Amino acid sequence: MEKEKLLQRIPAPLLSWYDSHKRALPWRENPTPYRVWVSEIMLQQTRVEAVKEYYLRFMKELPTVEHLAACEEEKLLKLWEGLGYYSRARNLQKAARQIVLDFDGAFPNDIRLLQTLSGVGAYTAGAIASIAFGKRAAAVDGNVLRVISRLTENATPINDIAYRKALEERLTAIYPPEGELCSRFTQSLFELGALICKPRSPECAACPLSFLCQANAHNTQALFPVQPPKKAKRQEDVYVFLIQTDEGFCIRRREEGVLKGMNEFPSKVVYGESASAVLDEWGVYGYQELARERFTHIFTHIRWDITCVWVRAESAPFDAYTLDEIREKVSLPTAFKQCLQMLSHYGTQNQVQLIP
Ligand code: SF4
Repeated sequence: MEKEKLLQRIPAPLLSWYDSHKRALPWRENPTPYRVWVSEIMLQQTRVEAVKEYYLRFMKELPTVEHLAACEEEKLLKLWEGLGYYSRARNLQKAARQIVLDFDGAFPNDIRLLQTLSGVGAYTAGAIASIAFGKRAAAVDGNVLRVISRLTENATPINDIAYRKALEERLTAIYPPEGELCSRFTQSLFELGALICKPRSPECAACPLSFLCQANAHNTQALFPVQPPKKAKRQEDVYVFLIQTDEGFCIRRREEGVLKGMNEFPSKVVYGESASAVLDEWGVYGYQELARERFTHIFTHIRWDITCVWVRAESAPFDAYTLDEIREKVSLPTAFKQCLQMLSHYGTQNQVQLIP
């Protein structure tokens, strides 16, 4: 009961702090449902600073939900290149098509209907409903969980779904009346988590909620939020081949596993096989190894220990592209982009003749 009262005292000081401390961010100008939605999807797993440039480019190319619905997949993935987690881009387009077909191009303003859109869960629906439509709807992300866990010294692990759900309800109950204040309240919670109540070094002296905060009162900030135990990542050894023929470098679509459906330099998870055994199995003909390098790429649940092997071949059963085509038109996930960097390194160091 005491903690409920504590939550009720959040909005007034937080809103007044937000008005004088909020950052100017591109998605905060003209916060239409489309603009809020795209920004929220981009910001999942990606830092604000990194998102800004992608967001502006995306909005320039695809300014409306209709443009996104009609966009060619390769162009969409190219716009998303570097943000990672490509399923977000595909879901974005699926949802855009749902909006065009099922809702006549107008976003639904109901939180339950928003959650029928592909890739839109409770958090994103809450963000769109409150920020763009001024609805009383909480959006509980990692920032908000951290702030509230510290404020109330709640020791429930933050991956606990029932806790998150209960928090959504408790926060929704303290929202201001429908309208612009709801939009600002959601953003003020995000902003406090991003600027002040930071994961490792909360700046409690500058916090507008310090007078309420239980963790601040007991100096227990470092104990909250309580993280679930980390699962070990699966490790895989992977060959990635830069197969250079007279036509250029081979690229194909991944048919399974992580990054399924994305372009790649032909790759294979291996269990002790040699590079030549893999190339022979694929039917690559007349090849000669030019260079190899090792590096690591970390996905959410998997760690790839990559050996990138560059070979010159007489023929290979894959489509080939020039380097210019690869850089300008082909969307490549970051794991494979590292191989491109290796190419420029060896190309300049060893004066190897590259196909432009
Ligand atoms: S007082 Fe400190 S720990 Fe509490 S909400 Fe503010 S920044 Fe976070």
